[in-house]
Amino acid sequence: MQDKIAIEEHVITAGFSAGASMPPNEVELAERMVDTEELRLSEMDASGVELSVLSLTCPGVQAETDPQAALDRAVRFNDRLAEVVARHPERYRGFAAVPLQDPEAAADELARCVDRHGFLGAMVNGFTGAEDGDRATYYDHPRFDPFWARAADLGVPVYLHPREALVSQRLAYEGYEEIVRAAWGFGVETGTHAIRLILGGVFDRHPRVQLILGHLGETLPFAIWRLEHRVGLRPYGKTLERPISSYLRENFYVTTSGNFSSRALVATIAELGADRVLFAADYPYESMRQAAEWFDAAPVNPTDLARIGRQNAERVLGINGR
Ligand code: ZN
Repeated sequence: MQDKIAIEEHVITAGFSAGASMPPNEVELAERMVDTEELRLSEMDASGVELSVLSLTCPGVQAETDPQAALDRAVRFNDRLAEVVARHPERYRGFAAVPLQDPEAAADELARCVDRHGFLGAMVNGFTGAEDGDRATYYDHPRFDPFWARAADLGVPVYLHPREALVSQRLAYEGYEEIVRAAWGFGVETGTHAIRLILGGVFDRHPRVQLILGHLGETLPFAIWRLEHRVGLRPYGKTLERPISSYLRENFYVTTSGNFSSRALVATIAELGADRVLFAADYPYESMRQAAEWFDAAPVNPTDLARIGRQNAERVLGINGR
């Protein structure tokens, strides 16, 4: 497939460090992360990727503790990203970084990026707060309602991307550093955050909000039945307007980023439907060519392959119409 759209592709501009996601000895990864002019475009060409939707890698502005600093950094990043997109409008689009330390400011910055820069939504790198801090702030709390309301009004999705769990939450991983992040911990952290958004009533208060999860849904497609079944038996006083499965199938999209398993893809399509799955590579953490070679040969019928590889992104992100 030669005209794919890839939607979880990361960049860094000056002033940001990637934190623990990118060890300082990984020079090649760092080079690929900052590059938008040469290597990235040739990788896209070799992979049949026509368009990449770029976003700030984790933890981005979410790790800031000072709301004003988070806003300043988000604005600086978004304006730089807009310059990159303006140089290559046929190859790149953008997701906004949003300073959720201040939900109103995050809403305003998202609106500014959509209106002024033509960005397609927001990329949020998990909870807000310092990694070694006492508390992670998750976005199910009603104080984030202004942000969710604005995303719904603008008609743009919010991509909930992983970050490392708080240091204090990593006891279960002691002695197993290799699974703290992308191998396992990211899925637990981000999947749990997504469940909090459902159980916290975000989609009851804002039914038009659309969330995107990477990595084939951070294992949630495989947990839908049990989650709904067990929460239904013991809801601990919470009431929702719809079954949990309904939120996962009507308010969530998932991407193929960094999870190139054909069997898992087929199962994800079976649970969510082919209209809810979008192609992504997770470049430069993953090889765009590997993502593309796997996807192009995936055991999916040509109609669904075209949807997942391109058409769903056009529809969900309003590409060509925005
Ligand atoms: Zn990623």
